[in-house]
Amino acid sequence: MTGIVYLVGAGPGDPGLMTRRSLELIATADAILYDRLIPADALEGAREDCELIYVGKAPGDVAMSQEDIGALLVELGQAGKRVVRLKGGDPFVFGRGGEEAEALQAAGVPFEVVPGITAGVAASAYAGIPVTHRDAASAVAFVTGHQAPGKDGDVDWQGLAAFPGTLVFYMGVKNLSRIAGALIAAGRDPAEPAAVVRRGTLPDQQTVTAPLADIAERVAEAGLKAPAITVVGPAVGLRGTLAWLERRPLHGKRVAVTRARAQASGLVAQLRELGAEVVETPAIRIEPRAVEGEIAAAIDALGDYSVVCFTSTNGVRLLFTALAAQGLDARALAGSTVAAIGPGTTRELEQHGVRADVVPSRSIAEALVEALADTPVEGRRVLVARGGAGRDVLPDALRERGAKVDLVALYDTVVEPLTNAQRTALAAADYLTFTSASSVRNLLSALGGAGDTVALGDARVVSIGPVTSAEARELGLAVDIEAEHHDVDGLVAALVADAAKPGGTAAADRRDSEAS
Ligand code: SAH
Repeated sequence: MTGIVYLVGAGPGDPGLMTRRSLELIATADAILYDRLIPADALEGAREDCELIYVGKAPGDVAMSQEDIGALLVELGQAGKRVVRLKGGDPFVFGRGGEEAEALQAAGVPFEVVPGITAGVAASAYAGIPVTHRDAASAVAFVTGHQAPGKDGDVDWQGLAAFPGTLVFYMGVKNLSRIAGALIAAGRDPAEPAAVVRRGTLPDQQTVTAPLADIAERVAEAGLKAPAITVVGPAVGLRGTLAWLERRPLHGKRVAVTRARAQASGLVAQLRELGAEVVETPAIRIEPRAVEGEIAAAIDALGDYSVVCFTSTNGVRLLFTALAAQGLDARALAGSTVAAIGPGTTRELEQHGVRADVVPSRSIAEALVEALADTPVEGRRVLVARGGAGRDVLPDALRERGAKVDLVALYDTVVEPLTNAQRTALAAADYLTFTSASSVRNLLSALGGAGDTVALGDARVVSIGPVTSAEARELGLAVDIEAEHHDVDGLVAALVADAAKPGGTAAADRRDSEAS
């Protein structure tokens, strides 16, 4: 039985611009042949046993020739595989997808084409340039910038110069001055606005605009390199009002988030929406404990506890996972007073259908002890659901009041050494955020000891509040910014305020000087 080959566009780089169809096909493929310019993490959804074959080219270096790629697609298809050929942008726009489809057709291997969002449209849009516009452009041309004037004869410069609309050049950065020169020589207006958009749709997108006559020089000054598109035409002028992405308050800033992944998503999403490039350097991992022994016993006895205390989101999440595994749900807590520390913990409980009865205003164990002052506990059973390394403040205080306290540890917090890629990203960060004292400790120990702060580069250290700041200073890390409100929103607000100050951050300065 023959298989099938899907020629799939992965879009311009922003993972959010991948199509549903592409994600479905990646998730079910036996083999994926992929290029260099596909979004980071695009292959994350692939099956564990999927064969991943890199066939991309770094400029100047050919990993596999086009003929070999075609032959491999045919071979895999004939072997009965479901094959995804994953390309940046759209497979049929300067993607050589047409040639691959021809090879498959000739060999009788079935294929399907899955369009992607092409860079010429997407990078323009993210730079605030509508490629067509009622007043500015009634047509758009996609042009290869590979064929440099003078080198190859096939580009019709007269035709392009006379084209009544937007010209979008792919792959032309190296040839830019010759392209601009040829267009002007053929009659295009030298004053017409032009833009070069590098790494369009990605958080470090950069755009340079200038009149056509000067664009090559401006781009050389700014040091813009591939991958970039060049857009020429009156529609480029709209960027002045429509450049939405690059105006975001954290555009161009690299922010490291040291929170454990399970808890980081809210912070990461907020930072990304503000335009930041986020590097996750969690340093710790939450490792659930097996649902047997202690946990199973606590669940069996759940009906007997008059009070159940939760001290963390993870504790809530994992207790409900354990309940579900036994076919139980929120009703197992129906007879108990539920107490929770912290807004995240309360929210997590609500997501499982439980409104906590006792919630202290401050998020520490001492505050919960106070908040429980009016709850009768003497002679009664109390369960404290928490992590493996929890403090004893709460159980000790409850025992003093005559409660029979059981502790159930649902998870352990494990420090994980950072990968090399994470270390590199960390060293290049503009900001380093800490949401707890333990996140400071964990990051420094993941870096191999408190002395290794050199690895943190010139990043500005942002702390959520005084306890976290004190821990950082104790461990030899200077704190540059401390949030006024000690929660995630407060931390983000403090970071945005700092980024708005003139002068920029150290790493941003470094990048500017690299570019000039
Ligand atoms: N099939 C792809 C194009 C492949 S040719 C598509 O439809 O987008 C590769 C060229 O695409 C690069 O040299 C560059 O000109 C352009 N390109 C790809 N990704 C880009 C991005 N994120 N930003 C700007 N240009 C990009």
